[in-house]
Amino acid sequence: MENLLAIIFPPKCFICNNSYGVICPRCLSQVTILNRAYTLVGGLKVLSIYEYEGIVRKCIKISKYSSRQFAALKKLSAEAVALVAGNYTGFIVIPIPLSRAKERWRGFNHADLIAKELALHFQLPVNTRILKRTKETTSQYKLDKFARKQNIKGAFTVVGDVKSKKVLLVDDVCTSGSTLAEAARALYASGAAYVAAFTLSRKS
Ligand SMILES: [Zn+2]
Repeated sequence: MENLLAIIFPPKCFICNNSYGVICPRCLSQVTILNRAYTLVGGLKVLSIYEYEGIVRKCIKISKYSSRQFAALKKLSAEAVALVAGNYTGFIVIPIPLSRAKERWRGFNHADLIAKELALHFQLPVNTRILKRTKETTSQYKLDKFARKQNIKGAFTVVGDVKSKKVLLVDDVCTSGSTLAEAARALYASGAAYVAAFTLSRKS
C-alpha cells in the first residue's frame, strides 16, 4: 500500500521540497563525503562517512519524530553504508542508546535506524538491548572536551553477553568521540574482544 502510494504521490525532497525522491539526486550530490577512519585517544577506530553539515545536519538534527525526516535519514544511511569499502564479518552491531527521557521526547533513536541499515547491508546481527544508558547525562552539545568526558563517564551498562565478541558501535555523529569511547570502555570491561565504531557523520 505504502509503495503504491509512493508511485501515485511520490514524496517531495526533504531538503529542497521541489524535486521528487526522499532526498533528490541533486541535493544528495551536495553532501560532503569523508569516508575516513579516525583513531581516538585510547585506540578506538571510528569510521565516519559524511561531514556533519548542511543536508546531513538537517537530517540528523534533533527534532521530534517526523516521517519525512525518518525517511530522509534512512536514505542517507543506506547511501552511506554502500560507500564502506571493507566489511565487518563476525561483528555484532550495537547502536549508542539514547537516555530514556530523550528517546521518549524525540520518538526515535537515529543510531538505531543507522545501525539497522548497516546490519542489513552487511548481513550482521544488530542488538539494541545489550547496551543501556543508565545515567541521565546533560546534553554534550555545549560542553568542552574534558567536560564531555566527565559527563558521559559511567553512562553505559552492558546487560547482555558480549564476552569474546567483536562489536561495531553505531552513532549518528561523532564530535569529540567521548560517548563512543565510554561505550567501548563499558563493552571491554564486560569482556568484548574488540570494539570499533561507525558514525554516519563527523563534526570537525
Ligand atoms: Zn532536493
